[in-house]
Amino acid sequence: MGGEAGTRQPGGPAVRAVGVGKSFGSGDARVVALHDVNLVIEAHRLTAIMGPSGSGKSTLLHCLAGLDAVTTGEIWIGDTPVTGLSDARLTRLRRRQVGFVFQQFNLLPTLTARENILLPLTIAGRKPDPSWFDEVITTMELGDRLEHRPAQLSGGQQQRVACARAILGRPDVFFADEPTGNLDSRAGAEILRLLREAVHRQGQTVVLVTHDPHAAAYADQVEFLLDGRIVSELREPTAERVLDRLAHLDGTARSGSRR
Ligand code: ADP
Ligand code: MG
Repeated sequence: MGGEAGTRQPGGPAVRAVGVGKSFGSGDARVVALHDVNLVIEAHRLTAIMGPSGSGKSTLLHCLAGLDAVTTGEIWIGDTPVTGLSDARLTRLRRRQVGFVFQQFNLLPTLTARENILLPLTIAGRKPDPSWFDEVITTMELGDRLEHRPAQLSGGQQQRVACARAILGRPDVFFADEPTGNLDSRAGAEILRLLREAVHRQGQTVVLVTHDPHAAAYADQVEFLLDGRIVSELREPTAERVLDRLAHLDGTARSGSRR
């Protein structure tokens, strides 16, 4: 085991993007999704990433988590440069240090909630710490749903299963792509409260993509993306200040497109 895949220095950033560019396709079909993104994700904080649809939020999150390779620049998770890692080391890094919640949950329909939650550990040949498993299940309020399959669960419960699965391996960084996008506001607020607790009580680092100013207001810091560039940053956000900033960005985008 050992610390081959980057034990984080105390106080150092959890994740860094240095000059990151990402494009898809080639020739006429080439889409540049990220341009020269420089970003520091502080450890033990909740960072939100906001921006219009198509601005590159999911692409950035996948690159930050080492799920997708960058075209230019570098990603660091803790002290480990992700760019250029062998597949085997990248897989190990992702298993041990990264938790990811996809926009569409990605639960396996034939497995129960319990089996879905345990799947990454099962694949890695690890056993959960029983008291930590109980704590995660209690926090996510899933105790009476563990033997259900995803189709028998509400959207909020499925999302909590996806969150439990990502957090059970005690990742250094927990990434979530619009985790409240498919939920009603009560279930959404519940997920956000749990994520904020994980940061402030358990010292987790969370990076959250959202288009909802009320969700972003749970964060310690908000980064705004526009056309694949970080264009603005807000500390100690409130929903009102986030809305103001978005309105301003919208104006910038419009005047940009008139050029
Ligand atoms: P957001 O999450 O902010 O809505 P995305 O990161 O999904 O934005 O997409 C950013 C841009 O990259 C969009 O123009 C999108 O069409 C493009 N894009 C994303 N993924 C792919 C892909 N796999 N192949 C081609 N283009 C992609
Ligand atoms: Mg997206």
